Amino acid sequence: MTLQPNSIEARDVAYHLHSYTNARRHEEVGPIVIESGEGVHVTDTDGKRYIEAMAGLWSVAVGFGEKRLADAASRQMQKLNFYHTFTHKSHQPAIELAEKLIAMAPVKMSKVYFTNSGSEANDTMIKLVRYRANALGQPEKKKIISRIKGYHGVTLASASLTGLVNNHRAFDLPMEGILHTTCPHYWREGHEGESEEDFASRCAADLEAMILAEGPETVAAFIGEPVMGAGGVIVPPKTYWEKIQAVLKKYDILLVADEVICGFGRTGNMFGCQTYGIEPDIMTVSKALSSSYLPISALIINDRVYQPVADQSSEIGTFGHGFTASGHPVAAAVSLENLAIIEEKRLVEHAAEIAPYFQEQLGSLLDHPLVGEVRGVGLIAAVELVTDKKAKVAMQPPGAMAAAAFGLVQANGVISRAIGDCLAFCPPLIVEKEHIDTIVAATRKGLDELK
Ligand code: PLP
Repeated sequence: MTLQPNSIEARDVAYHLHSYTNARRHEEVGPIVIESGEGVHVTDTDGKRYIEAMAGLWSVAVGFGEKRLADAASRQMQKLNFYHTFTHKSHQPAIELAEKLIAMAPVKMSKVYFTNSGSEANDTMIKLVRYRANALGQPEKKKIISRIKGYHGVTLASASLTGLVNNHRAFDLPMEGILHTTCPHYWREGHEGESEEDFASRCAADLEAMILAEGPETVAAFIGEPVMGAGGVIVPPKTYWEKIQAVLKKYDILLVADEVICGFGRTGNMFGCQTYGIEPDIMTVSKALSSSYLPISALIINDRVYQPVADQSSEIGTFGHGFTASGHPVAAAVSLENLAIIEEKRLVEHAAEIAPYFQEQLGSLLDHPLVGEVRGVGLIAAVELVTDKKAKVAMQPPGAMAAAAFGLVQANGVISRAIGDCLAFCPPLIVEKEHIDTIVAATRKGLDELK
């Protein structure tokens, strides 16, 4: 593709370094520039309309172009555009949103701390865990265990939690004190003849072995997404979470649920923790909290975390942490309105009702010669591509097949996401059957074109 001089695409190439993009390739191909959005659709500058089958980045739960959220932002901006939450100051939107999140939490929680991205929330989590360990007189108990293929962000610390090679390679990560245990992907990691439950037991045994090897007195917390998202939509095997939690309890290790994708309806319950019976000490949330209309994230913490942190701040004289925009009033007001929409329109119930259709229809792609596995729960799923179904291998180099399929599916009017050898789907919670039919038809056509 030749970029027209001074076109919007050429200006993008001239001035903009993109996230998760091959920068040299971008210089050749340029961007697709998205101009507007409405409901489950977005439209680019050439007027081509797509179903956004990824809800942007797993995040636009209520759909694009929701006027109520624009109005909520405008009202709050005109009343109080900014205030902070440092040194005993507060404002109504942050207070109301904190109260609301505590009321919504699936287990008894104590306090909410606001941040601006999923990465910042998980980065802050590590700082709270360290602060708490020092407060409790356990300065050696600071290691955190995450999982291979877990995704928790991209700051130095949260990228260290992330268990994906490209988030570490050439960044000199992971940092010390962050470890990665077995990825709970049954289809790929399960042994021949091993049941799902036995595989879950093996994952829990691997975790326990790692804790014992490190010394339980050095391990502070375990972090996991109820369903892994950016690692390729990996749904935990049956009994996984109960077995993992039993190990953590045994060694007095905090459980952090990264609900950045799962939170607010994605798995068919308000939180992924409810879908899998997870009882976390800390939850991190973002994305669907504001449906990504504005950047905001939060940590929801229980008393086991809050009380020692409060003691430590008192001992030192201040809790030496805070972002200018923590609990930003406009983002908080938009989040409150977004949560009101989710409740009033019963979007979590809708997600639960339509999920079987979504999963079945995507599941029908399994008869395609290039599909090895279709997995998912609620309104999140992945289609894993293979060239040999039995050997579970895809065309080389890794990711090439999904990248090609992604382009073909997108040309057919559906935006998915290529992750490794899979295509991921995570549509807005307002998705209807007719959209699902289009998503599946466009995907099948793209795969046929790939053959
Ligand atoms: N945690 C999870 C589960 C995520 O999926 C993401 C982003 O996709 C993050 C954390 C990081 O969030 P952010 O991109 O807002 O920093």
